[in-house]
Parts: sequence; structure tokens; C-alpha cells
Amino acid sequence: MSKSRLAIHGGAPVRAQYLPYGQQIIDEEDIKAVVKVLQSDFLTGGPAIEQFESEIAAFTGAKYAVAFSSGTAALHGACYAAGIGGGDEVITTPMTFAASSNCVLYQGGKPVFVDIDPLTYNLNPKLVQASITPNTKAIIPVHFTGQPAELDEIMQIAREHNLIVIEDAAHALGATYKNRSIGAIGDMTMFSFHPVKHITTGEGGMITTNNPVYYEKLLQFRTHGITRDQSRLRDNHGPWYYEMQFLGFNYRITDIQTSLGTSQLRKIGSFIEKRKQLAELYIRELGAIQEIILPHQLPYVESSWHLFIVKLQLSKLNATRRLIFQALQKENIGVNVHYIPTYLHPYYESLGFQKGICPVAESCYEEFITLPLFAGMDQEDVMDVVAAVKKVISHYSNQ
Ligand SMILES: *Cc1c(COP(=O)(O)O)cnc(C)c1O
Repeated sequence: MSKSRLAIHGGAPVRAQYLPYGQQIIDEEDIKAVVKVLQSDFLTGGPAIEQFESEIAAFTGAKYAVAFSSGTAALHGACYAAGIGGGDEVITTPMTFAASSNCVLYQGGKPVFVDIDPLTYNLNPKLVQASITPNTKAIIPVHFTGQPAELDEIMQIAREHNLIVIEDAAHALGATYKNRSIGAIGDMTMFSFHPVKHITTGEGGMITTNNPVYYEKLLQFRTHGITRDQSRLRDNHGPWYYEMQFLGFNYRITDIQTSLGTSQLRKIGSFIEKRKQLAELYIRELGAIQEIILPHQLPYVESSWHLFIVKLQLSKLNATRRLIFQALQKENIGVNVHYIPTYLHPYYESLGFQKGICPVAESCYEEFITLPLFAGMDQEDVMDVVAAVKKVISHYSNQ
């Protein structure tokens, strides 16, 4: 296989059919659950939302859960509940999707990008410590690829400096840190239910928390800042009365979506187990390739394996990352790149962020390639990816 002509040079691709990097699994049970809601009295604001919230709370071990229309909306809610406002600095990683720091900007706060650890690609706690100022209000660690960040260190720094920790666990539903579930460790934790994540509601997100004050704020923020809670009303004109007490948003999720979420959650164990098995197969099959570095796993965490990222050793290759990427695409392997460091985006540049802030993240970005990984793949799909990686890498190797 490795001797055959690359598809990018006109050879036959390893796969006849394109393999995406991620994809949802929807089965008959999911469809039935959604149809049942469509035939019921409530499309939104009904019982399916609270059911999904209580099942996510139970799954993560958190006391409270508040569902939102997206993970991004959930992060915005968490930043509101944390009291982040004008002039507040919030420490986060640039090796993530833009939402992890956009939520700070929505509240008028200032994201402070701190570099990642070169092995785990997660926020480097030593650099977090060094970046704290009197204006620091919160830390938003991201559990990159599903491997939990160094939460003990981060929580300790946060307690010492009176900071709020909001975990971006969009990649990490079902992951554990020192045998503790992600979702009940930091002050608030965000999950996303976008279709490439572990379970889906189409669009959707959740904040879990053990803090009743945050819980009430999140509920109210989700629906315009409105409350009907008698004990918290300033006035009371009658039984119809409600009050808008602060500026919130319509960030509600629907019963249609959350019924799908609850049905999907029943399968989370098998979804994660499958991702783990496929990741282990990748590690076994790609381990001997000198030109790539496989993801490093800490011994005291269990990743939920949202993404499988390999790092190219470009000094051992007569090719750029762009060429390797294009060659793999031509072999019908849906490789991707996660992520462009957030502050390199033009909007962030317009805010004054400049290249060079986080050199480790920038160099990782130059070398990363995400291989396909989702629960609907089988071992043959992994072996196709492995064959394509071997074919392309051996072609361009200078070893
Ligand atoms: C998916 C994702 C989000 C945002 O979630 P949405 O549900 O798409 O709004 C935030 N952070 C990270 C790291 C993500 O992967």
C-alpha cells in the first residue's frame, strides 16, 4: 500500500468513500423520542427540558444543570453568572474554538491567552499562575480533545486568588479526572451537544454547577432576565405578573431537542467506549511512525476522546502540513485541523492581540492534523485512515 501512487498524484485513493472527521449516530429510539414530543402539547418550555437537565446532572454528579440553545450560549450564561464585566480579565487557552473566549467578550471582559503544555496541549498551570493580575476574575480551562486539563492545580490557583473556574467541557462529556467526573469539579462546567460532540441535540449546550446562586442566575439569564419566582419579585400586580430584572437573552432550548438529548444520553457509555477502542487502535497502528507524535495521555485521567490529533514532525518530512493535509483529503480521509489559535483570528487582532503570545500553541497549530474519530466508525475505517497516513507519510518522509 505504501508504495502505491498517492491519490493527489492521480493514484487510486485508499477509500472509495469519503470518511468525515466526525458525525452523529441517530437511531430509531432517538427518532421515536423526538416524534413523541412533536405529538405532545409542548414543543418548548415543557417537561423534556427538565428531564434532560436532571439526567445530565445525574450523569456528571453535579447538583444542578441548565440547558441552553448552544454550548456558546451556555458559556455566555456562565460568564454572566460569574459576574464577569467590563475590565475583568479571564484566563483561557488559545488552542480551542473561538467560543471559549468570545463569551468573555460578550460580557465586556478581556480574555487573557495563556500558553498550553507541549505534551497534553492543555492550559499550562504554571503559566496561569504567572498571568494573574488584580483584575483577573476567572479561568476557563478547555479539556482539549476530551483529556481533562490539570484541574487540581487550576482549582488551587483559583482558590488562592478568589477566581471562578468555568470549564469548557465541550470535548469532555464522560471524561474523568482522578476518578472524578467532569461536570462537578469547577464552579461551572459547559457541555455542547453539537452533532460532532459525544451526544447531540442538533444545537444545544448545558451548564452544570453545584452552586444554587449560579443556578438561579443561569435560569433567569436564559430567558431575558425574567423571573416569576414570587419570593424574588419587587412588585406583584397579580397572578399574571413576572419581572424582567436584568438584561438576559432568549437562549432557551426546545423540548424537541432535549428529547433527542435524553435519548442520546442513554447511549453515552457505548459511544465513549467505542471512541476509546478506536483511539487505542490508532495508537497501536500508528505508534511506529517516526514522523508523527501521538497524543500523550496523563495516567490519572480518562479522556472521552472527542478528537484524535497527530502532530507532524515536519523536520522529518519533505512536505508542508498543508500538503500532507491535502494528500490525506485526496485519499478520501476527512482530516481536519483543531485549532487556529483564537487570537490569530482577524477580529482578535483588531482588539490588539498579536502573534507570539503563546508560542507553544502557535507551533502546535502548524503541525496538528485531526484524524477522523466518532462512535459510528468501525475498525476497518480506522485501518483505512492508518493505511492512508502510512501511504502519505512514507511518500514524503526524508528519514
Ligand atoms: C463545540 C465547542 C464549543 C461551542 O459549542 P456550540 O454548542 O457549538 O456553541 C465551545 N468550545 C469548544 C472547545 C467546542 O469544541
